[in-house]
Amino acid sequence: MRPSLLDPLFAPITSLAGVGPKVATLIERVLPADLGDRAARAGDLPFLLPNSVIDRRNRPGIAYAAEGAIVTLDVRIDRHQPPPRGNRSVPYRVYAHDDTGEITLTFFHAHAAYLDKAMPEGEQVVVSGRMEWFNGRPSMVHPDHIALASEAHNLPLVEPVYPLTAGLSGKVLRRAVAQALERVPVLPEWQDGAFMRKHSFPDFRAALERVHNPADPLDVAVEGAAWRRLAYDELLAGQVSLALVRAKVRRLSGRPLTGDGRVVEKLRAALPYSLTRSQEAALAEILADLAEPERMLRLLQGDVGSGKTVVALLAMARAVEAGGQAALMAPTEILARQHLATIAPLAAQAGLKTAILTGREKGRERTETLAGLAGGSIDIVVGTHALFQGSVTFRNLVFAVVDEQHRFGVHQRLAITAKGDAPDMLVMTATPIPRTLVLTAFGDMDTSKLTEKPAGRQPIRTVTLPLERLDELVGRIRDAVAEGQKIYWICPLVEESEEIKLMSAEDRFASLKPIFGDRLGLVHGRMKGADKDEAMRAFKEGDTRVLIATTVIEVGVDVPDATIMVIEHAERFGLAQLHQLRGRVGRGDKPSSCVLLYKDPLGETAKRRLSVMRETEDGFVIAEEDLKLRGEGEVLGTRQSGTPGFQIARIEAHGDLLEAARDDARLILSQDPELQSQRGEALRLLLYLFGRDEAVRLLRAG
Ligand code: ADP
Ligand code: MG
Repeated sequence: MRPSLLDPLFAPITSLAGVGPKVATLIERVLPADLGDRAARAGDLPFLLPNSVIDRRNRPGIAYAAEGAIVTLDVRIDRHQPPPRGNRSVPYRVYAHDDTGEITLTFFHAHAAYLDKAMPEGEQVVVSGRMEWFNGRPSMVHPDHIALASEAHNLPLVEPVYPLTAGLSGKVLRRAVAQALERVPVLPEWQDGAFMRKHSFPDFRAALERVHNPADPLDVAVEGAAWRRLAYDELLAGQVSLALVRAKVRRLSGRPLTGDGRVVEKLRAALPYSLTRSQEAALAEILADLAEPERMLRLLQGDVGSGKTVVALLAMARAVEAGGQAALMAPTEILARQHLATIAPLAAQAGLKTAILTGREKGRERTETLAGLAGGSIDIVVGTHALFQGSVTFRNLVFAVVDEQHRFGVHQRLAITAKGDAPDMLVMTATPIPRTLVLTAFGDMDTSKLTEKPAGRQPIRTVTLPLERLDELVGRIRDAVAEGQKIYWICPLVEESEEIKLMSAEDRFASLKPIFGDRLGLVHGRMKGADKDEAMRAFKEGDTRVLIATTVIEVGVDVPDATIMVIEHAERFGLAQLHQLRGRVGRGDKPSSCVLLYKDPLGETAKRRLSVMRETEDGFVIAEEDLKLRGEGEVLGTRQSGTPGFQIARIEAHGDLLEAARDDARLILSQDPELQSQRGEALRLLLYLFGRDEAVRLLRAG
């Protein structure tokens, strides 16, 4: 049970004054928390850290205040001059002075009553805002802050600025944050005292106070002690929860999976190619793990097209040889079907029975598959998250392969675990993940890497092209279609809130339709499953030649003879995504190219990303660059700045803390595996604060 101490933070965000359902929706957009399908809570707000500050400490005196500068002035109010009656176009002016000179404070559409009260004639007042010299005379239009001298201590001299979204004012947001902060109770310390002293960490509450009510811009710096303390809290929560999951998973001890090699050999013989050296090495590592009595938890990393699926298939064959069943779980239905298409014919040649289970299998087909899984007649099942629904039971699931794991959460990892008797687990990712991120997302997992592409692959030529030269491109695509080539044309998703109007897939489809006619296809995420499949089939078989798509095809879709990838608004995509998309071509033996269409003007980060794409095809290099370039807030599909999966920690700035958190978590759990000591109890609070409740539940489950 969650300690009641934390209840105020777990109340809905609408329990804060000034936050109704509408404002709540706006706030949800800027919150760094990954809300999933829950509503925002008051406790999410303290973790929304300012992304900059306005420094109002400059108090030069009127005569010395530079044009355009943000200044704070101590003035005496001389006279109010309301606009003439009935003429709203003339501003309301307030004249004031200090020792150095005179200033006009200007207000459009002013509320006279408010101004009278805020700045009574003859009173000493503090105003803060942007300085303007209008016809050589000092003025300030709509000061940001006005306070009577007697109340001026409330004025934020270093004012935090939060990420905003259209319709949400800074004032409303600041007020909500302030209220949420007040709800943070005094909590027992969960960090080690010596470690805190070494890093000059303030306590949790003080750290939050400092970043939200800074006295100095350094208080809000990512590398400042307050931010680092909170980042460390978040990292530690993550590492402790991963360590708990891992401990739980290990406690369900596995069983050795061995076999006589006959099924694996049959499969090998059925392959129309021989494995690359790194495929062989990865497979050997996996088979060795499977043979151990301990459970396997291994990550198979390999660039798009490096041939992970076949490695997984051979490993699954070993599981079947050992008398069990294996499951392969994919993040999308398209991918699940594609995996099945690769696997089924090969598996059949080795005498293995395969099946598919996604949300779309209904009626008899579904009933039969469920019976086959429960009865054991199905050896290998491929599916989506539908695989871990309650109605699915296995006779003997001993091995689970999870593709593109970063899309699944810890919950789901546990859910699939629960389907078998501690099945061995192989996680495949096509996004090469830098080591640091492996640590944050997976904890200490063993890793195999596929570092080479299968023989016969041609390099991909990558070019960048401004959107103005679209006509030229369309001409070249037309020639390519005439030659019988296949072309992907990717359009970014359009978010409704987006101010910049992007060309959506449907719009692009409509504009290219007159040119390509029947040879043009369209696939996007909002289409029905059957329509998606049909669009993919038509493209694969060559009925259509140009496929307009959103990023639904991002992961794993395999059309080996596609040779051109056009990515529209490439500047809006992150490096990892661009790399994934480009990997859709260059899979066959024909030379391929990738055209990154961009819209000027390009930001620095976008420029750098596009040039990285031109320079290299190496996924691991790209992943490292991606990490370096993160935090600029331009990446489509990621929240403004920040490391994926984190609210506060920024791997580029807090990488050193990550290693420390991992070691710390290990030490803590070796001494106090059930978190029952005084510090352990405090750590439970930390886990709740950072939404790691599932780990706490594991403790109870034992
Ligand atoms: P990944 O899942 O890593 O993106 P896949 O497993 O889908 O890659 O493999 C991509 C393509 O390469 C598939 O068509 C597969 O049949 C083929 N392939 C896999 N391994 C080899 C190999 N060693 N030699 C030639 N082709 C291979
Ligand atoms: Mg794949």
